[in-house]
Amino acid sequence: MTASRLAEISLSEIVRIAERARQMRAGGRDVISLGTGEPDFPTPPQVIEAAHRAALAGQTGYPPTAGTPELREAVAEKHGCAPAQTIISTGAKQVIANAMLATLDPGDEVIIPAPFWTSYADIVRLAEGVPVILPCPMETGFKLTPQALEAATTPRSRWLMLNSPSNPSGAVYSAAELAALAGVLAAHPDIRVLSDEIYEHLSYAPFTTFTEAAPDLRERTLIVNGASKAWAMTGWRIGWGAGPAELIRDMITVQGQLTSGASSISQAAALAALAMGPDILSDRLAAFRARRDVTVAGLDAIAGLSCPVPDGAFYCFPSCQALLSPAGPFADDAALCLWLLEEAGVAVVPGRAFGMPGHLRLSFAYAEAQITEALTRMRTAIEGRGG
Ligand code: PMP
Repeated sequence: MTASRLAEISLSEIVRIAERARQMRAGGRDVISLGTGEPDFPTPPQVIEAAHRAALAGQTGYPPTAGTPELREAVAEKHGCAPAQTIISTGAKQVIANAMLATLDPGDEVIIPAPFWTSYADIVRLAEGVPVILPCPMETGFKLTPQALEAATTPRSRWLMLNSPSNPSGAVYSAAELAALAGVLAAHPDIRVLSDEIYEHLSYAPFTTFTEAAPDLRERTLIVNGASKAWAMTGWRIGWGAGPAELIRDMITVQGQLTSGASSISQAAALAALAMGPDILSDRLAAFRARRDVTVAGLDAIAGLSCPVPDGAFYCFPSCQALLSPAGPFADDAALCLWLLEEAGVAVVPGRAFGMPGHLRLSFAYAEAQITEALTRMRTAIEGRGG
């Protein structure tokens, strides 16, 4: 029998579309995917060499649960805190899961501005908390306002989850916007902030870390970051958290019973990545920006889609509302995505997977030629439908 805590948790929409695309390819169809969220370049060779050296040097036993002292030291230095205020986990995802499992009692609420990265709400549900989802529409730049935050707070609120730059909207909060949200939380001492900054180095607008914008909330802020996006290391599974020592201690307790320390070899690799700094991504930022502009222009040229320019990350999140109608052919964004896959051979993800129906998410972490071809196919299919 399936546990009741899984009742509201479904197979990821992203996985579902990817599965169908795989089946179609296996059947000989030419399918272009703009679905996944990982950089399209390899892990830097210096990082791979560091992992190789670590393995040959015998760093192959259980690592300390909280992370190797060297990597915790490097993370502490990056975030301006003590090593005891850091935890290394198996991806940024596990940092978030540790935090929720360590702090939520059944029924505790977590405020999540939508659109949000798909896993936030389900991780909260797995921890038997209640996601309180606040729609932040395109008209307000997909950003949470202080008024909406204030209105959502209740005596059960325990966390606010922020993600800047955002997956999927690309929104980047300014220092003033973060400070205004922090101003609301000043009057709510039981609410902590989880600031997911994994796209820090992929920002086309100035990036501000939450602790810099809101130093007064440092004692209740957990910064989440990691190696996955900045150094093209999604498969190495290294993320980290930086926050108050007691929270980190409880998160280490959770991690100790679930997975133990993250892979020792991957930690050696992440240490080499941090030592390199983010230059590798800065070099690629111009290419990502050019791809962003091509994607936005291509989407805007399709009648029925409208796309704000994302300030960060590598996703566009256009509205497809004008194409949807209960009378068909597509009643909702999920139906449109399946249709695009079948008709145009293009895989994109429906907005409802991110808590905001009526949108599509396209990743532009692909070669420009592939993006252009996908957009041409989408335009031909959409503008020729029903003809
Ligand atoms: N946060 C956000 C906003 C993400 O987009 C992702 C990955 N798609 C993660 C966290 C998880 O990162 P990791 O692969 O390090 O677990």
